[in-house]
Amino acid sequence: MPRDRVVIVGAGIAVLVAAFALAARGLEVTLVERGAGPGGKMRQIGIGGSRIDSGPTVFTMRWVFEELFAAVGKNFSDQVRLRPLDILARHAWDENDRLDLFADETRSAESIGDFAGAAEAARYRTFCSDTRRIYDMLEKPFLRAPQPSMSALIGAGGFRGLMRLPHIKPFSSMWSALSQYFHDPRLRQLFGRYATYCGSSPFKAPATLMLVAHVERQGVWSIEGGMHGLARALAGSAEALGATIRYNAEAAEVLLSGGRARGVRLADGECIEADAVVMNTDVAAVAGGLFGIKARRAAATIPARARSLSALTWSIVAKAEGFPLQRHNVFFSRDYAAEFDDIFSRDSLPREPTVYVCAQDRDGDDAGDHAGERLLVLVNAPADGDRHSYGAAEVEKCARRTFGVLERCGLRIQPQPEATAVTTPADFNRLFPATGGALYGRSSHGWTASFQRPGARTRIPGLYLAGGSTHPGPGVPMAALSGRSAAACLMQDLDSISQSPKTAMPGGMSMR
Ligand SMILES: Cc1cc2nc3c(=O)[nH]c(=O)nc-3n(C[C@H](O)[C@H](O)[C@H](O)COP(=O)(O)OP(=O)(O)OC[C@H]3O[C@@H](n4cnc5c(N)ncnc54)[C@H](O)[C@@H]3O)c2cc1C
Repeated sequence: MPRDRVVIVGAGIAVLVAAFALAARGLEVTLVERGAGPGGKMRQIGIGGSRIDSGPTVFTMRWVFEELFAAVGKNFSDQVRLRPLDILARHAWDENDRLDLFADETRSAESIGDFAGAAEAARYRTFCSDTRRIYDMLEKPFLRAPQPSMSALIGAGGFRGLMRLPHIKPFSSMWSALSQYFHDPRLRQLFGRYATYCGSSPFKAPATLMLVAHVERQGVWSIEGGMHGLARALAGSAEALGATIRYNAEAAEVLLSGGRARGVRLADGECIEADAVVMNTDVAAVAGGLFGIKARRAAATIPARARSLSALTWSIVAKAEGFPLQRHNVFFSRDYAAEFDDIFSRDSLPREPTVYVCAQDRDGDDAGDHAGERLLVLVNAPADGDRHSYGAAEVEKCARRTFGVLERCGLRIQPQPEATAVTTPADFNRLFPATGGALYGRSSHGWTASFQRPGARTRIPGLYLAGGSTHPGPGVPMAALSGRSAAACLMQDLDSISQSPKTAMPGGMSMR
């Protein structure tokens, strides 16, 4: 029996998951990636002898990957070594105001009590139970579903389901909901920052996104070999199951025949014929016609004003002094509203940014080599990298502001000579075309935004979407869920047409 053939474009986490799942089911999987290795945003930058994770650093929802491996009788923990973090993140406002959040809710409540008083600690407990409830209500009908659907959300509960809808708080902004939980503005800022995990402003995102706080409380892990190690492990596991992965191979067009996706043409002219195609590139690239006019109708465009956040990052090997860094550290700006106003309303880098620092050699207090440690420093930025070049003077000005915030909080960073690599929104736009550097697809502003992300199936039979710009959203585990859904939908659809004869491409297709 000839096997069904699938061609996958991209090697981001979503489609590494899809390739793994499809290869495990015996399909002939070919994955083409324009870059030199797997991972997409989950990339590492080499500086001197060091490899620095320069994309995602916070790993959550390990169950997504455990389920994936368990489904084929394998153990995720045999492939990837994880270490749970006791301290989720250390937060600082100046040299004196510091607050640690722990994986353990009781320890966090104590820490908040010491920082902001017993009443805030009690309100934090309420916040925890409410965010747990939001997550529980959404996991099955929304996060695990292949398409976003209001009726599935209300679903089985019928009228009762409708009445429960306000519990997930879709209609109030995250900021206004947080103002009811926390009287201390620093705590609003801390928990409001979770909106940026979806590339959004806490002043515009629905309070539903507070569920991210619950996700982190379920656990944050560090990965041996870095986050990029997860991409390598998945790519290796997919290949071991028979998938072919081709790097430095750029897709230029989705080939259609009889209204159905039939393969992909590469930039060098080679055509790869298939029964189904999975696209991992940003939805904006497909909708913008980068893969041909016919494929455009697979997804609606993302207008520039609806783009999510971009970032400006520094990957550094440096000496870090004056502040007891944890693995994950956040240094807050003094005016959070102004920061998001700068980015989303004025299309400019924030005058004073909130700064995230991932100290990748630390897994607890005092671990690691402090003389030359690997740091990723990140500030949020507008997704205008397709119309703004980010010259040296502007980057230097942003660096002064960024490292100024760190110094205000006591942290001094002295990079080793030639040991800094900067990535701007313009660079992200080059890496992820048609996005302007937006790293999370469409922003989650307003209660309808989550329903506007496309699901796995498209209007074009045989063409599927997966990745952080699709449903259920951005972030490593979410993108992985989208890849799992794409694989499941594709299998279901191929099974249902397996009785009908396959149509040949007019003029045929060459295989090289
Ligand atoms: C700086 C940064 C920090 C982040 N922090 C976190 C975090 O801490 N935790 C977390 O969970 N998430 C985080 N994220 C988000 C997370 O990394 C992404 O949501 C997720 O990795 C997206 O995966 P994806 O499957 O959409 O593929 P992507 O990573 O977007 O990869 C798409 C792939 O498609 C390839 N491609 C594009 N065009 C073509 C073409 N024409 N032909 C062939 N290949 C093509 C690209 O080269 C790329 O490899 C962060 C992202 C960034 C950038």
